Amino acid sequence: MKEQKNLKANVASNSMSKNVEEENLPENDHRVIGQKLDLFSVHEDTGAGLPLFHPNGAVLFRLIEQHITEKLLKSGYQIARTPHIYKAGVWKKSGHEAKYKENMFYTESAGEKFAIKPMNCPGHIYIYKHKSHSYRELPIRIAEFGTVYRDELSGVLTGLTRVRTITQDDAHIFCKEDQIESEVISMINFFIDTYSEFGLSPDTIELSTMPKKHLGDLKSWKSAEKALEGALKKNKNKYVVNAGDGAFYGPKIDFHVKDVLGRSWQLGTIQLDFNLPERFKLFYIDDKNKKKQVIMLHRAMLGAVERFMAILIENCQGVFPAWLAPVQVRIINMNDSLIEYAEGIENRLRGAGFRVDSDYRLESVGKKVREAEMQKIPFIIVIGDKEKAAGTLAVRARGQKPKFGVKFGDFVKDLNKQVESKK
Ligand code: ZN
Repeated sequence: MKEQKNLKANVASNSMSKNVEEENLPENDHRVIGQKLDLFSVHEDTGAGLPLFHPNGAVLFRLIEQHITEKLLKSGYQIARTPHIYKAGVWKKSGHEAKYKENMFYTESAGEKFAIKPMNCPGHIYIYKHKSHSYRELPIRIAEFGTVYRDELSGVLTGLTRVRTITQDDAHIFCKEDQIESEVISMINFFIDTYSEFGLSPDTIELSTMPKKHLGDLKSWKSAEKALEGALKKNKNKYVVNAGDGAFYGPKIDFHVKDVLGRSWQLGTIQLDFNLPERFKLFYIDDKNKKKQVIMLHRAMLGAVERFMAILIENCQGVFPAWLAPVQVRIINMNDSLIEYAEGIENRLRGAGFRVDSDYRLESVGKKVREAEMQKIPFIIVIGDKEKAAGTLAVRARGQKPKFGVKFGDFVKDLNKQVESKK
């Protein structure tokens, strides 16, 4: 069983799927790297724009989610989880149906119409609305890695950048007017800090103001724009003003980042919303025991996680740092008599919390090492008779010469240090 499983994992990297081969894509394209590293695939049978994440890609996805979720919890967010479909009426009430109908998927049950969610907002709104809130509880920050679905013409769908399934690292903040500035400042810092953790540097921050077609009165717009701009100024962020480019429901701040190739990508957004608190009657009880409409902020830092992964893959060309590498260690045996011993090392490393796989095929060590290198695995451990006799490891760190006679405990310490440093 084991032999077969490992064989499969290795063969996958050699058999480029037809669509990637036929398109003649450049080597640095995330679709080509994704194929080499066995991260994801798209199939005609399951649908364009609906990528399937293979185990390696799913690990990467989960690591991103886990890292950001931990940061969110430390920053006072609460995590919610909401379904993929809601009754269609909710989307009428929220105004999304009027604006996005063309791009929404529908389904039906017992004569009742449902829509697959194009946004996460209503779910979080009903969580807020579920009970009454005192001004003392605010701000309430509800976050979710929520997958939404938006239809697009299949002609424009490609890889992970143009998809029909979009997982947003979404959050909604319900707060008082005098909390907007400090909330926005902490979001800006959260965003910039996180981008740099993924090797991306901030490029431009844009403040978009009231468009011609808008909801809400001029006074509210002016005070909201002032609050967003005040946060940028107070936090000493450089920004440009995009006059008239805000959403119809409120002003927003957009974040563009640069990758190592100097390309600029729009990622994060912070949006103030006058529309939904009004439509859904979202209140809090103020210090005079009166109902007051709450302020609602939408924010997504990575935008679509799928698209963010494409950027990440191209930015590091598949050479993921140890904390993000889907496979951190590959174990390779010199001959069949060493499999049992090698499996022991494999299990010990897995038990220590690392992501480990192995290649015990009847191939030359050279070939197996080359394949592991092509897959950009950070550490390759080769088990030979000498290593077994001495109880040590031969370790090849990515891009470095092999080290012999490494003690198991020292390797674990070293790898832990690398993972924890997140570098
Ligand atoms: Zn929202």
